[in-house]
Amino acid sequence: MNYNKKSVEDVDVRGKRVLCRCDFNVPTKEGKITSDKRIVAALPTINYLREHGARVILCSHMGKPKNGFDPALSLQVVAQRLSELLGAEVKMSKDVAGEDSKRLAAELKDGEVMLLENTRFEKGETKNDPALSKALADLADLFVNDAFGSAHRAHSSTAGVAEHLPAVCGYLIAKEVGIMGKALADPERPFVAILGGAKVSDKLNVINNLLEKVDTLIIGGGMAYTFLAAKGYSVGSSLLDNEKIDYCREMMQKAEQKGVKLLLPIDTVVAKAFPDPIDGPIEVHTVAADAIPADCMGLDIGEKTRELFAAAAKSAKTVVWNGPMGVFENPVLAKGTIAVAQALADSEAVTIVGGGDSAAACEQLGFADRITHISTGGGASLEFLEGLELPGIACLQDK
Ligand code: ADP
Ligand code: MG
Repeated sequence: MNYNKKSVEDVDVRGKRVLCRCDFNVPTKEGKITSDKRIVAALPTINYLREHGARVILCSHMGKPKNGFDPALSLQVVAQRLSELLGAEVKMSKDVAGEDSKRLAAELKDGEVMLLENTRFEKGETKNDPALSKALADLADLFVNDAFGSAHRAHSSTAGVAEHLPAVCGYLIAKEVGIMGKALADPERPFVAILGGAKVSDKLNVINNLLEKVDTLIIGGGMAYTFLAAKGYSVGSSLLDNEKIDYCREMMQKAEQKGVKLLLPIDTVVAKAFPDPIDGPIEVHTVAADAIPADCMGLDIGEKTRELFAAAAKSAKTVVWNGPMGVFENPVLAKGTIAVAQALADSEAVTIVGGGDSAAACEQLGFADRITHISTGGGASLEFLEGLELPGIACLQDK
C-alpha cells in the first residue's frame, strides 16, 4: 500500500463543498456523550476546512443501528457538542443523503458546517451500496476521509464515495499513515515490536507480518502461553490456544531463519484462578516460565521479564506496541503493562501504541502524552500492522 497520500493541504478547498468523514462514534449514556475525545480529535481538520473557506459537510456512523433511524443513535448530540466546541452553529440534517441533506448542503456558505445523520441509518452504508455512495458524492465536490477507526472497512462513506469524488485525507489519517506507514516501510532501527493481549489467534497475521520487519519481537500477555507451550513447557491453566501451538512453533522457526530476536517471558505471575470481579482482590506469586504449577494460571509477566522487555524496548529506535502484558484491569496484575508503558514513555525512540486495550492502558496509567503516537483505531491499526490494504486509505489520491 502507498502510504504517501494527499491531504487537505494539497488541494484547493475554498468555496468547495467538502464531504468529510469523521469518527464521531462517541460513547453515550442516557442520551449524553460520556467522552468527547473523538469530536475534539476531529477539530484540526474541520477548522482547517472552515478557515480555508470550504463548505463543510460532516458525516460519521455511531453504534450499530439495525433498522434505519434510531433516536438513541442520532448524531444530534454530536452536532450540539461540536457547535459548542467550534463556537459556530452546526446544522444537522434529518437524513443521510436524502432531500433534507441536499437542501442544507445547497444552502451552505463558505466556512459553514453541517452534519449528516448517522450513516448507518442507511442499510446501504455497510454494504458499500453504489447508489448510497453516489448520493453522498452528489452532495459535495471533494471527499476528505479523517476516520482512521473505520478505514479498514469498505463502506459507502469510507471508501465507496471516493469512486465519484477527488479524495484526500484529513490530519488524523495523515498522522496515522505518516507515523505507522514510516515505521513499517522504512523504520529507524533497531525496530522492536511488543505484542500482548489475550489470544494468539487474534493476532496471527500481525505476528507473521512483523517478523518480516522487526529486529526484535517481544511476546507477552495471554498469547505468550501458547508460545511457552510450543517450547514444551507446561502452562497450567493459563490461556492456551491449543490449535495454534504448531503455528507458534513455525513463528519461532521463522524468527530464527530471519535472524529476528524473539523474546518470551522468562518468569510469570500466577494465581489459582482468574480474578472475579476482574479488579477484585487476588493472591499471586511469581514462578519461572518453565515451572508454572498445574493448578495455576499465568496472569502477568514476572519481574525478570519486565526488566528484559523494558531493556529491549529502551535499546530501540522504533517501538510498536499492541496488547497488554497481563490482566492490567487488576492493579495487582498491571505491573507488566506499566513496565512496558514506562519503558516506552522513557524512550527517545519513535513509540507507537495500537490496539484498543493497550491505548486505554496507556491513557489510564498516565503515559499517553509521552508516547509518540497512540493510534485512534483498534481494528484499523491491527490491519495496518498486518500489512493489509485499508480501503479507506487506498481510495485516497497519492501525492
Ligand atoms: P488490544 O485491544 O490492545 O489489541 P487485546 O484485546 O488483544 O488487546 O487483549 C486485551 C485483554 O487481554 C485484556 O482484557 C487483558 O486482561 C487480557 N490479558 C492479558 N494478559 C492475559 C493473561 N495472561 N490471561 C488472560 N487474559 C489476559
Ligand atoms: Mg481489545
